[in-house]
Amino acid sequence: MELSIIIPVFNEEDNIEIIFTSVKQQMEEKINISWELIFVDDGSKDGSWKKILGLSSLNTEIQALRFSRNFGHQYALKAGMDRARGKAVITMDADMQHPPALIEDLFLKWKEGFHIVNAIRMNTKGVGFGKKISSHFFYKIMNYLSDIRIEDGASDFRLVDRKVIEQFKEMNEYFLFLRGIISWIGFKTASIEYIADERYSGRSKYSLKKMLHFASDGIMGFSIKPLRLATLLGFVISTFAFAYIVYAIIAKFFLHNTLSGWASLLISILLIGGIQLLTIGIIGEYIGKIFIEIKKRPQYIISDKIENQTDS
Ligand code: UDP
Ligand code: MG
Repeated sequence: MELSIIIPVFNEEDNIEIIFTSVKQQMEEKINISWELIFVDDGSKDGSWKKILGLSSLNTEIQALRFSRNFGHQYALKAGMDRARGKAVITMDADMQHPPALIEDLFLKWKEGFHIVNAIRMNTKGVGFGKKISSHFFYKIMNYLSDIRIEDGASDFRLVDRKVIEQFKEMNEYFLFLRGIISWIGFKTASIEYIADERYSGRSKYSLKKMLHFASDGIMGFSIKPLRLATLLGFVISTFAFAYIVYAIIAKFFLHNTLSGWASLLISILLIGGIQLLTIGIIGEYIGKIFIEIKKRPQYIISDKIENQTDS
């Protein structure tokens, strides 16, 4: 087995057939090696699993896993990588936003000797201004706050070598953020650029809530800088408070206008209260993550499997 392609699926019934046929066409026409396609059904509520079952009975390249519920995109990718047998693994979305024509480019870079080949999104057709800005902002904050570098426009469309997969399989942390972990693992990395197409069918499965969780896992999972930020903030506010004490003493003994200052008093109380809540929140977020992490729960639970016999 040379190449495994992993496709996470969450309510994508109308995309499964087209993504499979386009991948198959690319594989057969351009890259002539043994391959498998692993669909990971992340607890779909529509007919996605049925579609996968139907296709897999006709195509032996298809392998599939089905989760017992919706665990999330990152966990679906992890499950696929745990299961993959290829010497290289490509992960891509089910909605045709990651053009299958790029499989060849990823493959060729791998053949050149790179262990990680990231596909970097240059532009997305039909994506709203809001999502573009928030994504750009996310990478800016992410790179500032954490100790690893992630390129703006990074996506989970990439090829990784078996070496990277073996390292990645060892990682059993509960809060998964693949872009961070893969970059953290290291090895020889290259990137290619692409323009994302519009979704073929259906709507984005990333709600605002899911995106915020994703962003917080990315930032807090890779650095303690936000905790340091809390300390810094506390320091700055304390300096102000101290300066104000000095001013209050001077006002009392030299300016004789001590009754004024209610406003500043109120402001400083509110400000300090706010900062305290903020920093407690940040600390709480980390403690919460530690709490969940030490339970060592499995990252995902598989309810069904399709295992097609292939020649290796
Ligand atoms: N996905 C998943 N579980 C989820 C959300 C998304 O497996 O909880 C899959 C989805 O089916 C798709 C990929 O992850 O194949 C990317 O999701 P989507 O296209 O909705 O994200 P966007 O392109 O809007 O960022
Ligand atoms: Mg998409």
